[in-house]
Amino acid sequence: ALVTGYRPEHEALEAGLAEFLERDSVVLFSSGFQANLAVATSLAGRNDHIVQDRLCHASLIDGARMSGACLLRYAHGDVMAAERQLARTEGGHTLLVTDGVFSMDGDVAPVARLAKLCAKAGSWMVVDDAHGFGVAGPGGRGIVAEAGLGQDDVPVLVGTLGKACGSAGAFVAGSRELADHLVNEARSYIYTTAMPPAVAAAGLAGLRRLTEDEWRRDKLRELIDLFRAGAESRGWRLLPSDSPIQPLLCESPEATLRLASELRERGFLVVAIRPPTVPAGGARLRITLSAAHEKEHVEQLLEAFAECLDTP
Ligand SMILES: *Cc1c(COP(=O)(O)O)cnc(C)c1O
Repeated sequence: ALVTGYRPEHEALEAGLAEFLERDSVVLFSSGFQANLAVATSLAGRNDHIVQDRLCHASLIDGARMSGACLLRYAHGDVMAAERQLARTEGGHTLLVTDGVFSMDGDVAPVARLAKLCAKAGSWMVVDDAHGFGVAGPGGRGIVAEAGLGQDDVPVLVGTLGKACGSAGAFVAGSRELADHLVNEARSYIYTTAMPPAVAAAGLAGLRRLTEDEWRRDKLRELIDLFRAGAESRGWRLLPSDSPIQPLLCESPEATLRLASELRERGFLVVAIRPPTVPAGGARLRITLSAAHEKEHVEQLLEAFAECLDTP
């Protein structure tokens, strides 16, 4: 990007994202993994602390490790535990880092309460809203906007373009200063090939759909409600997720694999998630709903599940 790779398509996408997210600036990355490495390694170093939810995405964990900062993790979604870890930090500065929507559980981080902690402790809050961007919050602006928080509360907002947006790559949104700092310091921005311009153009087209097609979010909401109501009426073990990620806990990794393959035979792509991707005992099927599905699909999926669960 710094040599010859930054093209008008990138500029247009960065400007579009900044306007949509109500942030001063946006920097594009080739992937979410690289964006998270950039944030951690360029904003924290040896004398600093990174306080992180235990279920944060692997790229946030690796970024924290690479940064050389002291990594303190807290129990998933536990604001009091986060507060205790913040109290242990001294010297340097502190980043508090969380996913917005958690990718394996589908639940949402308590960002409003975490932002209050950060304000009190003088820490910077980083939210990776890869799964909330385009789906959650007012107009699809994500769970940070849903919680009524802006750039002052969450100075570093990460999102990816390979999920709801339907393209690939990622972005970090925040102040002009943050953008300049990333572009000049982040090794995972500087020493890699820029996002291809065609991918940036596809991202901008995706952003247009996200912005204009409110009906897609309405439809998705209906599908989520339909799925949850159907699963709950059958007594299945769902996690408390309000997002399109709907995990169904299974007895064992073997049972999870068996169900996934039986569903596949019936024409449903439902992914088996097993330890170590999730903690021991947490094997699950991850149902991922999309606005491209229809109600009939959800009903057929529920039926297929019922059949597969019945056969020993
Ligand atoms: C998918 C995901 C990433 C990685 O994004 P890529 O563009 O696939 O590298 C990072 N963080 C979270 C929370 C994700 O869900």
